Amino acid sequence: MDCVIIGGGVAGMQAAFSCRRHWPQKTVILIDAEQEVGYFRTLLPQFMVRTLAPSKLFFWKPEDDSRLVVRPGLRAAALDRPNQRVLLENGEKIPYERLILASGGRPVIPGTCVRSSGSGIFPIRNLTSARMVQKWIPEHPRIVILGGGLVGVKTAAHMARPEFKVTLVEKEDQLLPQALSPQAAALVKAHLQQMNIRLITGHSVEDIQMQAGELRSVCVGGNGIDCGTLLVAAGSVPDVQFLQDSGLLMNGELAVTASLQTCDQNIFAAGDAVTVKKEGSYTPWTWPQAITQGRLAGRNIYARDEFPLGMLTRVNSMNLNGLSLVVLGAPVAGAEVLAYSRPQAGIYRELFLKNGRIVGGALIGDISGAGVLHAAMNAEVAVDRNDEDLLKPGLRALRQVSVRYSKPERRVQLV
Ligand SMILES: Cc1cc2nc3c(=O)[nH]c(=O)nc-3n(C[C@H](O)[C@H](O)[C@H](O)COP(=O)(O)OP(=O)(O)OC[C@H]3O[C@@H](n4cnc5c(N)ncnc54)[C@H](O)[C@@H]3O)c2cc1C
Repeated sequence: MDCVIIGGGVAGMQAAFSCRRHWPQKTVILIDAEQEVGYFRTLLPQFMVRTLAPSKLFFWKPEDDSRLVVRPGLRAAALDRPNQRVLLENGEKIPYERLILASGGRPVIPGTCVRSSGSGIFPIRNLTSARMVQKWIPEHPRIVILGGGLVGVKTAAHMARPEFKVTLVEKEDQLLPQALSPQAAALVKAHLQQMNIRLITGHSVEDIQMQAGELRSVCVGGNGIDCGTLLVAAGSVPDVQFLQDSGLLMNGELAVTASLQTCDQNIFAAGDAVTVKKEGSYTPWTWPQAITQGRLAGRNIYARDEFPLGMLTRVNSMNLNGLSLVVLGAPVAGAEVLAYSRPQAGIYRELFLKNGRIVGGALIGDISGAGVLHAAMNAEVAVDRNDEDLLKPGLRALRQVSVRYSKPERRVQLV
């Protein structure tokens, strides 16, 4: 076998397509622990509440490509690097010439949930558990979502329907604490409250009550909340346990260069599993990054002239069931804040600047100009903090930034 890929999430699938496209004479074998692969993980919240047609969930269907072999339902247990083989949990050994690791992330499950045995507690991470949630919630419509980060907030927004009673619990004092400033998070909070979602911040799930093997209630901030469903969205960590003895981990991290090579020249890695080392450590674990990295790994795996990753930002856009949101980058300590606010219209736009360069920001309620602001941030061009048009909605930012930065010596490339 030529190229083996571990992981059939978006990074692994894109790596497979890219490897086939760039190196058509090579065979690719992709293995994944789940029974179903090639789906939009980002659409699982809509899938769980049946507002997404099942056919729209998948971006890949088995193709007529005899050199792309997808083997679902198989878990890699370890690597035998001296003999270039992947050892599977079922005892099978798969030889590789080149290997791409794209095992993604696994959910963090708080101890309170781990200790509770019974039905009604589900992590929000994969299609297997999303299918279980889909079947479970019609009979158990009182839902508590643990975690007010991206996944928890998105899930709450899509579950806010008349047939469900949703409570969202976040241990920090604001929603999306790793992505938004308190001012920006306040708009998201108001939007969710308008949708009749009960929000509890500053507390976590302290205790879980089961009855006859099923979830009955949780305790949050000393108060009991009746619920039959607890969805856990308390973050994720790289799923790299199977690499423990491989010699590829540095301080527990699967470190890669900017061209996505591990410390083994025959092994590349991409997506939520990796930490990119490039004048610092980067963990840009987002859907767009997983796509970009997967494609690059598939291209670089046999290349003599490896391309580096051009962009390491965590830019992210989403629609929270009616509220548009683009995160350019999380608040940065010590950064100057430029803000534009129209509370009546539900619009808040902010940029974080350091040394006159954009280092983060968020656009809420009106995301126009996001592409050009992102390009300016990525190209590290200086912006004029006194330029009132920079943050105003519409195409003003586009005009200002593109004109100013189209000088030959510092040209912003729009992506
Ligand atoms: C509900 C939800 C909503 C999200 N929404 C957004 C969003 O709006 N925007 C955004 O940017 N990001 C979002 N994300 C995050 C985004 O989905 C991830 O960043 C992205 O999926 C990472 O892709 P990946 O291929 O690296 O990893 P994954 O998607 O985690 O795929 C890894 C695959 O590897 C397999 N695997 C793991 N270990 C093994 C093993 N030992 N053997 C074989 N197979 C293995 C797993 O089964 C899995 O299929 C969301 C995530 C969730 C869960």
